[in-house]
Amino acid sequence: MTRTLLVLPGDGIGVEVTEQAMRVVGWFEEHRGLDLAIEERLLGGACYDVHGVMVEDETVEKARRADAVLCGAVGGPKWDSLELEGAPEEKDGLSRLRKELDLYANLRPARPYDALKKKSPLKPEILDGVDLIVLRELTSGLYFGQPRGIETLRDNSERGLDTQVYTTAEIERMAHAAFGLARDRRGIVHSVEKSNVMESGVLWRRVVSRVHAEDYADMTLIHMLADNCALQLVSNPRQFDVLVTDNMFGDLLSDITGAIPGGLGMLPSASLGPMRDDRTRPALYEPVHGTAPDIAGKGIANPLAAILSAAMMMRWSFDRAGDAELIERAVEAALDGGARTIDLAVDGEATIGTEAMGDAVLAELDRLSD
Ligand code: NAD
Repeated sequence: MTRTLLVLPGDGIGVEVTEQAMRVVGWFEEHRGLDLAIEERLLGGACYDVHGVMVEDETVEKARRADAVLCGAVGGPKWDSLELEGAPEEKDGLSRLRKELDLYANLRPARPYDALKKKSPLKPEILDGVDLIVLRELTSGLYFGQPRGIETLRDNSERGLDTQVYTTAEIERMAHAAFGLARDRRGIVHSVEKSNVMESGVLWRRVVSRVHAEDYADMTLIHMLADNCALQLVSNPRQFDVLVTDNMFGDLLSDITGAIPGGLGMLPSASLGPMRDDRTRPALYEPVHGTAPDIAGKGIANPLAAILSAAMMMRWSFDRAGDAELIERAVEAALDGGARTIDLAVDGEATIGTEAMGDAVLAELDRLSD
């Protein structure tokens, strides 16, 4: 069965790390009978420079129909300061893809690696046994809510406005996604909001509680306020299994989980849309990190988050959980073997570049599959 894969490397290190992720995908085409029709297109600043828009309509349509989209990252100083008109989904290509494909469920797993424990700012005894997923709502809330804008007041000063907004249906589908994920894990869902000070948080808590009582009463639901959650993630992350939260809190809290594996360069993500009639779903896979303009073009970026995103793609879009595990084991083995990009090295450890890290993972794939 041929699956369609749309590759959108984007800008900065997005291009560099996606190249390594695609080498890993290529290994599965060569050795494991993965049958892909691959197309690569421009996104973000790279697209703007050529076509004058951050994403072309044709790219959105191809992404909508693709079995999976593999993305690098977008943005950079050259484009971030452009004063483009419109809502986020109109001026940012990635936001438009997320919105138009309705990629509401953003999965951000985090786990520690023995080889990187010295790199983590968290103590080894805090890291032991941690295995969590932040499930972030991605298409609504504060980043998309209307009204928004900067208006000039009568005294000529300005007022910036964003709106946090969630509907019952938006919260319900997040709750179902969270309990669905937890069902195959440890069965614990932490639902995170600020219902003490936000009306949207009150509704969030009420709806998640109802969905739990109606459909998932055999599982554990714990409500937690977002500020406390930030502290809990660094003091006792082991308690978490699936952590479901809104767009903005998910953005912040999932970056904190970068402390668990030892850096942003280790965090993959999957963004999933609603199930189609044929039981497939639109899906976009990307590292959590950005385009890292400070190191872009130097060949030193860590490609492991992108490679681990490709593993998530195997699991969630291609129904190849065994191949996903093989990639994850190869990444772990490469780290155990001492492979370190600059962001992962401590105590004067020798470092390798982006391509050499890709080589290390491919060598482990060869070894593990022997
Ligand atoms: P960033 O994630 O790009 O970088 C933060 C820091 O982490 C930098 O010091 C960077 O060098 C380092 N880093 C990140 N990924 C790394 C990797 N794989 N290997 C080694 N080091 C890595 O965040 P930022 O600096 O806040 O943003 C830079 C640009 O990226 C901005 O234009 C921003 O809008 C964009 N951005 C895009 C996305 C996305 O496309 N999903 C996400 C975040 C930021």
